[in-house]
Amino acid sequence: MNLLLFGPPGSGKGTQAQFLSVEYRIPQISTGDILRDDVKRATPLGRQAEVFMKRGDLVPDELMVEMIRERIRRADCSGGFMLDGFPRTVPQAEALDQMLDSIGQRIDRLLSLHVDAEELVTRLTERWTCPSCSLTYHPASNPPRDDQRCDADGAGLIRREDDNAETARRRAQVYFERTYPILDFYRPRGLVVEVDGNGPIQEVRNRVKVALQGEPRAA
Ligand code: ADP
Ligand code: ADP
Repeated sequence: MNLLLFGPPGSGKGTQAQFLSVEYRIPQISTGDILRDDVKRATPLGRQAEVFMKRGDLVPDELMVEMIRERIRRADCSGGFMLDGFPRTVPQAEALDQMLDSIGQRIDRLLSLHVDAEELVTRLTERWTCPSCSLTYHPASNPPRDDQRCDADGAGLIRREDDNAETARRRAQVYFERTYPILDFYRPRGLVVEVDGNGPIQEVRNRVKVALQGEPRAA
């Protein structure tokens, strides 16, 4: 299964990806996580990406396409993969198609999560992230067992620099202007599965499970 995860920042892609990765036994490839790791290590990519990420803008397509090309060639993707945060522009989607064509693969499904705008801002400004493994938490809907520590590795949780109200709104705007239109690129192929991402995590998880079992359909 080659799966694309879509949805505005804070819609729960990373949270649902955790379940899906176990269920389908495919790696979750989060371009945001890869970029943040590069920023931390001050690699050439990280140094170029940082300024865009801080503003809530998209990192240029050429950099992102090269990153994904390298990532999906790795052995762990041979049985399928899940892309969380890529493609985010039509040129990225076109480049992904070409890349997959050249290795005899294709996208099987695109899961799009829909969440109310105000809920998105609340989720992002209250999100806690593990700086070590990137798992996310929320004080109300998904608290860690131990106050402020990651359940998986015990690292102290942090608030991402771009998870402030102003940048969160900017990221949502960028999503609706530049990323949302990609759905029309995939829709004619019948791959798009739309799911209501409002409500408790477990409920969304059940909806996602049912939606991915059936034929692609609108919510
Ligand atoms: P994304 O990867 O789409 O940016 P995350 O999965 O990181 O979103 O979720 C954003 C925040 O909202 C996190 O703090 C997460 O714990 C929380 N969250 C995820 N799904 C839900 C949900 N269904 N209801 C409430 N909070 C949620
Ligand atoms: P969220 O989980 O909140 O949606 P991400 O972690 O996916 O955010 O992305 C964080 C930032 O990394 C984005 O605001 C953007 O600057 C950059 N980024 C991630 N993926 C891409 C991409 N495919 N194209 C361009 N920029 C990207």
